[in-house]
Amino acid sequence: MRDLIDKLTERHTLSRDEFKTLLACDSPYLYERAREARRQVYGSRIFMRGLIEITSYCKNNCYYCGLRRDNTNAERYRLTGEQILACCKAGYDLDFRTFVLQGGEDDYFTDDVLAGIVREIRTAYPDCAISLSMGERSYESCRRLFDAGADRYLLRHETADDAHYSALHPPEMSLVNRKKCLWDLKKIGYQVGCGFMVGSPGQTLDHIVEDLLFIEELKPAMVGVGPFIPHSSTPFACEKPGSLRLTLNILAILRLMSPNLLIPATTALGTIDGAGRELGVQAGANVVMPNLSPAEARKKYLLYDNKICTDESSAECRFCIQNRLKSIGYEIAVSRGDYISHEFA
Ligand code: SAH
Ligand code: SF4
Repeated sequence: MRDLIDKLTERHTLSRDEFKTLLACDSPYLYERAREARRQVYGSRIFMRGLIEITSYCKNNCYYCGLRRDNTNAERYRLTGEQILACCKAGYDLDFRTFVLQGGEDDYFTDDVLAGIVREIRTAYPDCAISLSMGERSYESCRRLFDAGADRYLLRHETADDAHYSALHPPEMSLVNRKKCLWDLKKIGYQVGCGFMVGSPGQTLDHIVEDLLFIEELKPAMVGVGPFIPHSSTPFACEKPGSLRLTLNILAILRLMSPNLLIPATTALGTIDGAGRELGVQAGANVVMPNLSPAEARKKYLLYDNKICTDESSAECRFCIQNRLKSIGYEIAVSRGDYISHEFA
């Protein structure tokens, strides 16, 4: 196994079969090499992004997600521009230099409305990065938001396999369109993040290898990977959550494929295991995304069951994360934490 891990470290890529072997392995050496690769680029500094969950309305019906439109048990809310600006203010005072606006696909947030909010944040916080994670929008829409001051866009591809994509989404959604959006975002000039859930129903190791190869092709700045966790009011209520070990292996493999990649240790990882985010960092992740949403919003933005950090305040989450990182020898960087360009293999 060490040979294979050394090979990935040196060449940044492997054959399909070799990737599969590494995905299934149980080797602390994989995490050691991933930590070393990250240290060479980023030292022991971890970037922090403030997540603002701006709307729980969604017109889509993804089978896995608690915000899907057919979930009539979900409580819906949307934040006003003023509330979003207040989250940024609180976040700035807590050392955040990146704000991530995330939400369901909510027609209330037209280009005019969202671009107006982005412009206000851009004017008030010229030294901060603005990331959007608002689902699939048209090329024109994404360009307008970029022109208004957004720097980054997170849109997980969810799976790079057509048949698997169809098993996770209703027929009106397509992988072709998802991928097109990602390429459009790159073309416009965004730092782009793709990604997928680990252990989503029907996922095989072959699918994950396809995901890795798609990432190699797209060359994103960020990749978000976290375990699938069932939500009780979705068609996948009775499915099993994703595995901790497999998630950590994927984070480490991604780090070795692209040492400069921005890789979050996700809230979902912290939900399936009390030390999940720390383990994620120890497997090569270099980003944490504490919640900056107002208290009333947190309890309603439920993508999956048992989500952590819904009772804490923004300040509590920020210092909790800092302490967790400190306990394993890392510190938070007070900076935008932009991607440093690196060529994939
Ligand atoms: N509407 C936007 C952003 C919100 S959803 C979008 O879909 O892109 C953000 C991410 O949450 C999704 O990309 C998905 O990968 C993840 N997610 C949704 N439901 C989940 C679940 N049950 N378990 C784990 N992650 C989930
Ligand atoms: Fe909507 Fe995103 Fe959830 Fe799909 S994953 S239902 S697009 S919030």
